[in-house]
Amino acid sequence: MNSIDLAGVGMTSQRTRERLILRLQEQGIVNQSVLDTIRMTPRHLFLDEALAHRAYEDTALPIGFSQTLSQPYIVARMTELLLADGPLDRVLEIGTGSGYQTTILAQLVDQVYTVERIEPLLIKAKARFRKLGLRGITPALSDGSFGWQEQAPFNGIITTAAPQQVPDDLLRQLAPNGILVIPVGNGREQELRVLKRDGDSYEFDEEIVEQVKFVPLLGGLSR
Ligand code: SAH
Repeated sequence: MNSIDLAGVGMTSQRTRERLILRLQEQGIVNQSVLDTIRMTPRHLFLDEALAHRAYEDTALPIGFSQTLSQPYIVARMTELLLADGPLDRVLEIGTGSGYQTTILAQLVDQVYTVERIEPLLIKAKARFRKLGLRGITPALSDGSFGWQEQAPFNGIITTAAPQQVPDDLLRQLAPNGILVIPVGNGREQELRVLKRDGDSYEFDEEIVEQVKFVPLLGGLSR
């Protein structure tokens, strides 16, 4: 868990960021640590220069390779769901993308493991983590449909690309009482689901939260 180094970041005006936070609150985000973290995270650094002026709008934006940086509301909602039972030690994120969600998580949990399958995206994300002086992030280039067996178990897993069904490997890599936040479905719209492991059993309480739109989780099914 750490705070980011804002020196030389060229932080956007407080008013612009405050407007985004108000909008997130209007949409029902209540976790104050999540709101504070989003307020203090320079989202413009996670976009190409041509799009940076739109960074504090509550909208998804392209990051190249047909991928998108999720809408701030979705980042906030998924983070809030992940942390619903309190702080977590070890979290796995699948789909590093720009590294924005990773950066939010790294300020709220001890250790973040993050995997991405598109190498140029991962390289850029790692440069951002360095620039922001973030510690406690372990990134890897790999297919996250299988989770990350060598680093398991995780107290939380968050998937920022949508599989057609919940991958068994992810459930198996949850620690007792671990929580999985994942969009699931075909096509352009999916259901955001939360699965909580019941103690150290292999039973999971499942809740469907809302409809969401994510890029597909690729790979995996060909195994
Ligand atoms: N969390 C990201 C969102 C990026 S979009 C952010 O804050 O910017 C989802 C990402 O998931 C894309 O970068 C895509 O390449 C990646 N992805 C899709 N399938 C994957 C897989 N099987 N393993 C790892 N990453 C995957």
